[in-house]
Amino acid sequence: MSDDAALTLRATGGRAPDVFRPGGWVPMREYRDDEAVDFVIVGTGAGGGTLACKLAEHGFSVVALDAGPYWRPLEDFASDEAHQAKLYWSDERIVDGDNPLQLGSNNSGRSVGGSTVHFAMVSLRFRPEWFKARTKLGYGADWPVDWREIWTYYREVEQALKISGPINYPWGPHRPRYPYRAHELNGPALVLARGAEALGIDWSPTPIATLSAPRGLAHPCVYRGMCVIGCSTNAKQSVLVTWLPRALATGAEIRDLAMVGRIEHDAAGRATGVAYHRAGRWRFQRARNVVVAGYAIETPRLLLNSATDRFPDGLANSSGLVGRNLTVQSNQAVWGIVQEEVRPYKGPPSLALTEHWNYTDTGKDFFGGYCYMSQGLLPMVAGGLQAKRGLWGQRLLDAMENYNHQVGLKIVGECLPQERNCVTLSDERDALGLRIPRVTYSYCDNDKRLIAHALVFMRRALAAAGGRDIWDETDDTAHMHGTARMGDDSATSVVNGDCRSWDIPNLWICDGSVFPTVGGVNPSLTIQALACRTADRIKALAARGEL
Ligand SMILES: Cc1cc2nc3c(=O)[nH]c(=O)nc-3n(C[C@H](O)[C@H](O)[C@H](O)COP(=O)(O)OP(=O)(O)OC[C@H]3O[C@@H](n4cnc5c(N)ncnc54)[C@H](O)[C@@H]3O)c2cc1C
Ligand code: SF4
Repeated sequence: MSDDAALTLRATGGRAPDVFRPGGWVPMREYRDDEAVDFVIVGTGAGGGTLACKLAEHGFSVVALDAGPYWRPLEDFASDEAHQAKLYWSDERIVDGDNPLQLGSNNSGRSVGGSTVHFAMVSLRFRPEWFKARTKLGYGADWPVDWREIWTYYREVEQALKISGPINYPWGPHRPRYPYRAHELNGPALVLARGAEALGIDWSPTPIATLSAPRGLAHPCVYRGMCVIGCSTNAKQSVLVTWLPRALATGAEIRDLAMVGRIEHDAAGRATGVAYHRAGRWRFQRARNVVVAGYAIETPRLLLNSATDRFPDGLANSSGLVGRNLTVQSNQAVWGIVQEEVRPYKGPPSLALTEHWNYTDTGKDFFGGYCYMSQGLLPMVAGGLQAKRGLWGQRLLDAMENYNHQVGLKIVGECLPQERNCVTLSDERDALGLRIPRVTYSYCDNDKRLIAHALVFMRRALAAAGGRDIWDETDDTAHMHGTARMGDDSATSVVNGDCRSWDIPNLWICDGSVFPTVGGVNPSLTIQALACRTADRIKALAARGEL
């Protein structure tokens, strides 16, 4: 195993790693720092990586910078939970509020390819009504986009990632067949199905971004279960192995280990490029447009850290909303033991789910929805969970003896946007001298009611499936969004429906930060769909001379 990528530039000298061939390279176009490219993109994850590909394919010159390494999954990824912590963004951050968030492994990645390198691959569409949550459902905020348009882009993304899914999906408007067949259910997924059927609700195999058949040089999933520590077979369809090879092939440049510290602007208030740190020194990439796609913490951090005399509260912040409305998803679980051996480490963690409570509006004492999924887990996580629950010594050993019989049901629950939940700058600085973020989070009463409802319901479902010794995991969260929300009004949003900032016309934001609400499903399919749409909108604006 080589860790060189964390220390040594790999995308340089006119070539980038060929992620499909050990030791291989692909040619990469390179731009000079003083050459003003059409777009410089900060971050190459679900938002930035997708956008880099699509903009390059539309003929724009693109440089995409990522603070993380350029991994070769076939060579660099070990089947070892501790070793793979190298994928997470684990720089110091301050957390507070009533419910301080656990950051690091379960919340953001630092890699070329972003958090998708270690995400769990669940690829779900938003319920149509969520795009008009305020008008149609009475909570949160409306999105400035039409659901039908996003659903068209979902199709493009599902094809690009060859999502494996069922022939008929039980909820929402009809959708075309998924490109690849659904995966066989693993042990925990069979338990979820049994419980749902016992309670009389629908369930489904999970639409998921890992291959169920070969694709080019990538093999189908072999069910080793290492997905959330990085897939070493390339079955996982992360941004690293999907959009980015396409981006390189059409002339985009990707710079690894390149941390952007500031966005600069000219006297007229237009962005001129970004100052970034790479290979031991600060440099400046000129650009006609700047896109920020650093995830819901680093995006507002960069905008706030770029404050100037003209924009003393940070860039794109005339609304005062940069960093505000940080929204997570609740990620509580119930765990229990079943009679049969389920081996919870086998296969992707969540191979079955139910969206029953996303599409049912009666029988709830809360706004929003949640899905719940079968949950597998690796041994270190299992041990940590039991210890967090208070087990220690012989009781912990006894619980771990049952590891092969342990099953979880876990929610992805909608939390409501609240301005008090936010990313701000602390006075402390990191090794590069950049102020570090303070992340403040508290659940509201609605969030607590949703969680309570889900725990009661999942307990019933697990018991109905034959589960015993059931206990609750009460304090987990996942996925962050909302800190640069999109909207129709410059007073109440940071960007418009094209992800273009209201204040600086050549500054764009393209990642989970722009979500006004989060729904009860995992976000990355929507982030990628929005990125595809943004690229098409930029192409249309350019054609009309409106960039
Ligand atoms: C453990 C885990 C499991 C998940 N499972 C799922 C799932 O099953 N389904 C799903 O839909 N979603 C899942 N997610 C969430 C999903 O991965 C994220 O929502 C998505 O990747 C966010 O996209 P993004 O573009 O906003 O940011 P990211 O994909 O995180 O990309 C941001 C990139 O920007 C870079 N960056 C940030 N700041 C700077 C800077 N200043 N200079 C240079 N580079 C910078 C970072 O290094 C990073 O690579 C999971 C996340 C985690 C952590
Ligand atoms: S289970 Fe499949 S997607 Fe997950 S790490 Fe193994 S091969 Fe990759």
